[in-house]
Amino acid sequence: MSKAKGKVYLVGAGPGEPDLITLRGRKLIGQADVLVYDYLVHAKLLKWCREDCEKIYVGKMAGFHSVPQEEIEALLINRAKEGKQIVRLKGGDPFIFGRGGEEARTLAKDSINYEIVPGVSASLAAGAYAGIPLTHRDVSSSVILVTGHEDPAKTAVAVDWQALARTKSTLCVYMGMGHLAFIAGELMKGGLPAETPVACVQWASLGRQRTCVSTLDTIASAIEEAGLTAPAIIVVGEVVHFRESISWFEKKPLLGRRVVVTRNRERIGELASRLEALGAEVLSLPMISVTKAINPEVQEEIFSELSSYDWLVFSSVNGAKYFFEAFFEKYKDSRSLGFMKIAAVGEATARSIREYRFSVEVVPKKSVAEELAKALVETGSMDSAKVLVVTGNLGGNVLIDQLNEAQAIVDRFPVYETEKTDLSKNIVAADFREKGADAILFTSSSGVKSFVGQATALKLEEGAKYPLAGSIGPVTSETMTKVGMPLDFAAKEASLDGLIEALITKLNS
Ligand code: SAH
Repeated sequence: MSKAKGKVYLVGAGPGEPDLITLRGRKLIGQADVLVYDYLVHAKLLKWCREDCEKIYVGKMAGFHSVPQEEIEALLINRAKEGKQIVRLKGGDPFIFGRGGEEARTLAKDSINYEIVPGVSASLAAGAYAGIPLTHRDVSSSVILVTGHEDPAKTAVAVDWQALARTKSTLCVYMGMGHLAFIAGELMKGGLPAETPVACVQWASLGRQRTCVSTLDTIASAIEEAGLTAPAIIVVGEVVHFRESISWFEKKPLLGRRVVVTRNRERIGELASRLEALGAEVLSLPMISVTKAINPEVQEEIFSELSSYDWLVFSSVNGAKYFFEAFFEKYKDSRSLGFMKIAAVGEATARSIREYRFSVEVVPKKSVAEELAKALVETGSMDSAKVLVVTGNLGGNVLIDQLNEAQAIVDRFPVYETEKTDLSKNIVAADFREKGADAILFTSSSGVKSFVGQATALKLEEGAKYPLAGSIGPVTSETMTKVGMPLDFAAKEASLDGLIEALITKLNS
């Protein structure tokens, strides 16, 4: 059989914030055999790749091309000839100062299949995220995207800045930070008033976005004073004034703050996305890993007697997941489960059971083992009932003791193991060790304990920022104090809202 023909997708990754990529771009990343990317591409995008996808960094920083353009092009061609699907991911849009045109032309010349997927270019993101409409019916009816980078070899087309000044367009300058004084001078010579407003937007759309606003005659010294450097877009024109009334992104209360969440609870994802919505850069540190672990002999014994049980009890989402996986590996028909009733420790567990089309008879309001035991006892059916409790290697004891007390005949079926994660090779942990964070949030005692257990893998390097530690409520706070951790802030009311409020107050105090 002949191999499928290779293809190269030149994909715009957008300006930085990962959510600003197109749906098509994201889909292609998920399918790619090979991903070729460079410096301005966000690390989160790489997580969408298949596990076996070959990722090749051809990093480019201004003035420093670690892989020459010809080599990148040769790489794309070679991999395509091997029949691979290649995503060539580029910051912003591939056809705006991205050398996408050159790459496409080389591919066309070699008769390689390719497609171009546009992206949100940096100037559009700078406008949107700094609160500067690039056009406005009263002020500017055209926009010019222009490079401020003077080609060292002087082979590029020279920009006639004075002519641009006369167009009265909004100017968006890419790669211009190194020549800002020259550019501003030329624009003034071309007739733009010295008081024309200018904004430099650095790292547009990301938590570390910074904007410096001044006028043509002073902008060069203003950015120097502010310490603003590349990558940035320079926006020149009256439209910059709108920012005073419509800037929104930079007003987010946690913008640019690095916040660590210790991830070992289902709700931590919700906390992370709420922090992100407030502008924070969230570092999720997984504290515990869960793997399927079923003893085949135990499984055989339990499965052969399944129909003798009256109750099937799940104490966690993972328990349900691994149990039903094993069950459907062995049986094709859900009726093989028999007529037993099902109980779940909480709504999340019940939901995952219902996904397998089984109804759940008992779910306590509060998701803890004691409440589940109580709810089961209250059914009045525990006396002499045969109960199968599906758990992990650690849990289940409280539940089993209380059911035994109620005269049930209980079997325990462990289906997974929880282990402390090895953070020594985790990239988020490495990022934390290197730079530290503004704050670290604890939402449970077990989170605190496993954090302490990971101390070596999380030891901050010299110069890293030492985070303020916050707690969701009194029990967690007590554990933090017990293990000798500082407690810098705590939620007034034990909830995610309370914790976020305490964090914002602390960081802005
Ligand atoms: N193809 C890209 C541009 C690549 S040229 C696009 O369409 O956006 C590199 C220049 O883009 C940088 O020097 C800077 O001027 C600009 N740039 C890229 N990302 C940026 C960002 N997040 N914020 C501000 N400027 C950015």
